[in-house]
Amino acid sequence: MSETPHHHDHQHIVIVGGGFGGLYAALGLLRERRFQVTLIDRQNHHCFQPLLYQVATGGLSPGNIAMPLRSLLANHKRGRVLLDEVLDVHAHHQQIVLASGTTIAYDHLIVAAGMRCNRFGHDAEWGTAAPGMKTLDDALYLRRRIFENYELAERCNDPRERQRLLTFVICGGGPTGVEMAGAIAELGRSLRRHEFHHLTADDTKVILLEASASILTTFPQPLQDRARQDLTDLGVDVRCGWMVDHVDHRRIVRATTSDQETREHIDHGLFIWAAGVQGVALAQSLAIASNESLKPGGRVLVDEYCRLPGHPHIAVIGDLAYHPDHRDPLPLQERRALPGIAPVAMQQGRYLAKRLRRELRGRAVKPFRYRDKGAMAVIGRNRAVGVTGPLKMRGRLAWWAWLFIHIMYLSGTQNRILVLLQWAWAFFSRNRGARLITGAELTEQALLSRRRSAGAPAHDAAD
Ligand SMILES: Cc1cc2nc3c(=O)[nH]c(=O)nc-3n(C[C@H](O)[C@H](O)[C@H](O)COP(=O)(O)OP(=O)(O)OC[C@H]3O[C@@H](n4cnc5c(N)ncnc54)[C@H](O)[C@@H]3O)c2cc1C
Repeated sequence: MSETPHHHDHQHIVIVGGGFGGLYAALGLLRERRFQVTLIDRQNHHCFQPLLYQVATGGLSPGNIAMPLRSLLANHKRGRVLLDEVLDVHAHHQQIVLASGTTIAYDHLIVAAGMRCNRFGHDAEWGTAAPGMKTLDDALYLRRRIFENYELAERCNDPRERQRLLTFVICGGGPTGVEMAGAIAELGRSLRRHEFHHLTADDTKVILLEASASILTTFPQPLQDRARQDLTDLGVDVRCGWMVDHVDHRRIVRATTSDQETREHIDHGLFIWAAGVQGVALAQSLAIASNESLKPGGRVLVDEYCRLPGHPHIAVIGDLAYHPDHRDPLPLQERRALPGIAPVAMQQGRYLAKRLRRELRGRAVKPFRYRDKGAMAVIGRNRAVGVTGPLKMRGRLAWWAWLFIHIMYLSGTQNRILVLLQWAWAFFSRNRGARLITGAELTEQALLSRRRSAGAPAHDAAD
């Protein structure tokens, strides 16, 4: 089945991905009456990924950090939303192919399809033993595993098994890993004090593994040190210089320190992968169309106007784009890429809408220039680090700045108010309200653990 634009006097712009880049591009493009916009996503919602860890640890509900794409574009008659997956781009015919079998023609294509987990070639081997956190489903799975483990540990009479269940290992010392480690450590304290009366302070262990010499390596050294100290104060065991080389289904992480070649096993109840991402599968067909190889992280090289080389009608923005950073003094081909963070995607989305509007009117266009407003990472209540220009923030001030920025960029007024209220409630009561275990049955890991605690042999293949 083939679809063509509805109105021939309109330009048809197809956007792949309703994340930060795609959504901001769509909203900017819909200001122009001669554009008709089709936004395609394999999920029906826009997800505010920076707050996924709050869903995983029961601080917020999924609906607080996600909005249906249809409702975000509801006021725009020239915009339509399709729930589908884009499988291929036929650049020379200006068409895309969808999983539903439909082919759609475009005048301009904007690809903002983001990243997926990268377990560095271990996907098949580690997959289920090393869940990542990229989508709401991922966060809900982690939430379930975390709270299931607490339930099982509370009733477990075997101290070693109890300890294992409550050992949470997070791999990756970037902002996501740091936020997750801090949140689980705080959660563990609060659950033990208020609800799980058979657990002791020593039962919950949170271990943060990082391969390089420090955590938060993109932050200035004093902030790296402060974040590490804050995590340690919360009881997180931060281990830098650790390379994970195997995660098996017996829930044991085997790691070697990169310099000393020592080996160690960690029995864990949940291992969370926050160490790497790579471009989605669609990147490959874009790279082939542009006669370029994929860039580091499976990203797609674009020029200064966000265009795919050789294809002025295709733009790639957001995390998926390897956009050379104009601030890097090296020649264009050797420049490092802009970071894969939300402000880059949002600014590129807005820029692209403006560029296409100007091109429609035959006006001159400027290359994309990223305005770096800084970076932040939250560690826990009243603990965060942030840098903006020469200003370095830490502690309470950084934490309040983090709260304000996240509320500001959350989509939907209703969500902003609800999240504000929930955070205010959590701040004063120290209670996380969304600690729900959902799903019909216990996970396979929980069933195995229950059998072990009862002294029965666990026969499952995963064991
Ligand atoms: C856990 C986590 C925490 C983060 N924290 C921060 C933070 O604190 N600050 C910050 O600045 N950034 C943070 N980021 C990064 C930030 O979320 C990304 O930079 C941003 O989401 C990139 O936007 P995007 O539009 O490129 O892609 P995304 O927001 O990932 O959106 C891509 C969309 O494309 C869709 N899609 C993919 N492939 C297809 C296909 N073939 N067909 C149809 N649809 C498709 C996906 O369903 C998705 O909706 C975090 C990311 C994660 C995962």
